[in-house]
Amino acid sequence: MKIADLLREKNITLSFEVFPPKTSAGMESVSKATEEIASLHPDFMSVTYGAGGGTSEYTVDIARNLQDSYSVPVLAHLTCVSSTREHVRRMINLYKEKNIKNIMALRGDIPQDGAVADDYHHATELISDIRELGDFCLGGACYPEGHPEAATRRDDLIFLKQKADAGLDFLTTQMFFNNDMFYNFLYRARDIGIKIPIIAGIMPITNARQIRRSIALSGAELPERFRAIIDRFGSNDAAMKQAGIIYATEQIIDLLAHDVNHIHVYSMNKPDVAKGIKEALSDVIV
Ligand code: FAD
Repeated sequence: MKIADLLREKNITLSFEVFPPKTSAGMESVSKATEEIASLHPDFMSVTYGAGGGTSEYTVDIARNLQDSYSVPVLAHLTCVSSTREHVRRMINLYKEKNIKNIMALRGDIPQDGAVADDYHHATELISDIRELGDFCLGGACYPEGHPEAATRRDDLIFLKQKADAGLDFLTTQMFFNNDMFYNFLYRARDIGIKIPIIAGIMPITNARQIRRSIALSGAELPERFRAIIDRFGSNDAAMKQAGIIYATEQIIDLLAHDVNHIHVYSMNKPDVAKGIKEALSDVIV
């Protein structure tokens, strides 16, 4: 099923994200985790793609398994900055062959050694290529607090509008911990003429180590209220996990109360976290 149709037909959607293993040795545990998350019946699941190519071959295998064995609509990611046009064409043909209908079209992070293939500079170019190569439903990334490389939030928004106009069906946000950042972004995005659905991306922080990495990658602001939670519970793994799930659930409830009805949870191969959130919302999302 195309995710654009899901977003149109369902009043509220809750989806989860998983990532592939780095080596074949990790495949068994990742498959088990993704299958447990699938058994929670999310509206769809996304499977990330390793920008450097390391884990990309597994993205398709996991997506296919979720789709065929669990009948979960799947969003398979694809990045371009480290790829040649030829490689992208091969991946698109593979997605077609495996009957994958939804692609998250991304630039990917610039590798630390700066090694890019030079065929692609921005996600917009990838979106135009995929549009020519097949009939896919396409998602793109957006950044309520601005992409870390953008000179200004205004520039980022102008490029986002160009990206949406290149042929996106929906956007999913980078993680944010302060809903006001999202509401402000949503207002500005609509004001500049971005009309497609914008799915709110929520990252449950369940251990103190994860927070440092997440903040470094996303540049998301940590509200004082959340800092206090980390200070108080960060050294106790069980308490931090529970507090992180509750914080993410409260963010989702606030979003729903403000008519933001499409929520994507960065569940990070953690079935217990996905389950905790799903159960906490069992009478809210029916
Ligand atoms: P772009 O949309 O190309 O934007 C990148 C930067 O370029 C921005 O600063 C933008 O303002 C600027 N820009 C855009 N167009 C132009 C232009 N024409 N001229 C000048 N500047 C321009 N990474 C992975 O490796 N694998 C994944 O599976 C993955 N999944 C993700 C899912 C989501 C929902 C999100 C939010 C991010 C994900 N990422 C993933 C991370 C993503 O690859 C990085 O954030 C990357 O740095 C930017 O990708 P993008 O597609 O947003 O890039």
